[in-house]
Amino acid sequence: MPELPEVETIKKDLEKYILGKKITKVKINRPEVIKEPEPLKFKKELCNEKIKETIRRGKLLVLKLKENKFLIIHLRINGWLKYGREEEKARVIFQLSDGNCLNYIDSRLLGHLRLRKSYQDLDFVKRLGPEIFDLTPIQFKKMLREKKANVKSLIMDQHFLAGLGNIYAQEALFLAGIDPRRPANSLKDKEAGLLYKEIKNVLTEAIKYRGSSVDAYRDSRGQKGGMEKRLKVYKKNKKPCLRCQAGLEKIKLAGRGTCFCPKCQK
Ligand SMILES: [Zn+2]
Repeated sequence: MPELPEVETIKKDLEKYILGKKITKVKINRPEVIKEPEPLKFKKELCNEKIKETIRRGKLLVLKLKENKFLIIHLRINGWLKYGREEEKARVIFQLSDGNCLNYIDSRLLGHLRLRKSYQDLDFVKRLGPEIFDLTPIQFKKMLREKKANVKSLIMDQHFLAGLGNIYAQEALFLAGIDPRRPANSLKDKEAGLLYKEIKNVLTEAIKYRGSSVDAYRDSRGQKGGMEKRLKVYKKNKKPCLRCQAGLEKIKLAGRGTCFCPKCQK
């Protein structure tokens, strides 16, 4: 599932490729991915619109067309956007004024596209938590102190903190040496500060390496990211810990597989 670094990579690429271009035609192969308005209107309202800005909020991607017109792209589990020639497997194809296409690909049809006057007024957007890059360490520590949930499930809860998913939550906790099962409010000031720093570090590194292609994720030219080779615990059950060589363990937290080092993460 694309997390903040993957969506940020797509956003930055699209800035390069599609900004200022017009949508000349929209082809809809699978209308069920369009949540609003109804597909015919969706098509009609997008034609001849220029892409003015690309926006990311948490894991959500938004193309601004006008002050009151936004194409909202929720990639969810394995949606992605590919720029270039028309792709047969695309669910929706946006033909552009430069002769290329922006293909919305989503093998499992779990993502959503919406065309709306605003994206900030969507319920799930209103409920999104802040992003780590917008928080000070003091604010983040205070947020943790108020919660009893296990720290791993908490930092990947989009209402608490937007952008982190199962990959980078595990990585950040390993880097910070914190056991993912600990209640958030049990973290000492120093530990919470370290976690703040490592969340920022791992997201920054993942953006630099253009995301992790652990499953369907590809960038907007169809290339794999480079971050999956740098992951230290994600899906590395029983592999030796890079710090202490002990075997990594896998547990489930809130139904999600979680790898960690029982020796280094206290
Ligand atoms: Zn270890």
